[in-house]
Amino acid sequence: MQDNKNNATAKAFPELSPTYKDPHQYPPGVAYLDSQYVPISQAKISVLDWGFLHSDATYDVMHAWEGRLFRPELYLDRFFAGMGKLKMSIPYDRAQVLEIVMNAVALSGLKNAYVELICTRGCSPTFSRDPREAINRFMVFVVPFSSVANPEQLQRGLHVAVAERTRIPPSSVDPSIKNYHWLDLVAGLYDAYEKRAETALLLDDQGGIAEGPGFNVFIVKDGQLATPDYSVLPGITRRTVMDLCQELALSCSARALSPQELTNADEVFITSTAGGVMPVTKVNQNNIGDGLVGPICKRIQQAYWDKHTDNEWSTLVIYPDD
Ligand code: PLP
Repeated sequence: MQDNKNNATAKAFPELSPTYKDPHQYPPGVAYLDSQYVPISQAKISVLDWGFLHSDATYDVMHAWEGRLFRPELYLDRFFAGMGKLKMSIPYDRAQVLEIVMNAVALSGLKNAYVELICTRGCSPTFSRDPREAINRFMVFVVPFSSVANPEQLQRGLHVAVAERTRIPPSSVDPSIKNYHWLDLVAGLYDAYEKRAETALLLDDQGGIAEGPGFNVFIVKDGQLATPDYSVLPGITRRTVMDLCQELALSCSARALSPQELTNADEVFITSTAGGVMPVTKVNQNNIGDGLVGPICKRIQQAYWDKHTDNEWSTLVIYPDD
């Protein structure tokens, strides 16, 4: 006979109001977890997972563009380095993780895809407080590509505010480990909305510009580029911009960047896997330069997307229907 003790029938309580929104709606997509590929709506984790309870996780996000994965090796480097620093391990090596990613993208059928790899601390069978007893969990999910900036913002440039909030200092959380400690970034976003901006840049604990919710920042002054080097995630798009600067013979340095340098810049842009190179034309409601998207930003943006069809920078995904 079936044991019903843990099988209480789900009942909506209190009764659903007409304005109730179903939280279980999903974009199209595919996930890999527990050695299986499943539709995104079926990818579930335990509420006991330390990744969920304590943000004890690392993750990475790469993307497929027109059916090609962009610089996957760089993302795998960062993901495996993060797991190592957090003393996590998974039963797959780099080649196997890449194969899982390729399969998940192919099964999703999405040519332009946002591809997230996650390793959580997991749970221990006894709910032990000792992280060494937890079984680490690896998962991947693939959903349609998404961008920090929408098409209109990409065209006219984003409006950014420098938030009151400071970024969690590197002495507390190592920013080179891509992590889910986002409460400062989300609070920064709300600061920015109050200042009638569309997104935020946070200061570091020394008063310099750090980064924003999911992106790094660059300025251009007198033809020279600069990006903060402290209290930031070493973004792969940031790295790609630096590589492109070398190809384009542009000078670019990673160094401390003051809020004054940001507001006095000729051009500002932000970088993220979610959107690439995205122009900023207002900071704290003031125009950057003449308030139009600048020529160096446009040039780098063009070079960035051109590389997506270059065999040396991208890897072809074989889809079942191709
Ligand atoms: N900074 C933070 C805090 C991020 O979360 C991200 C990406 O999500 C970035 C920067 C940009 O990194 P990447 O270019 O690797 O997407």
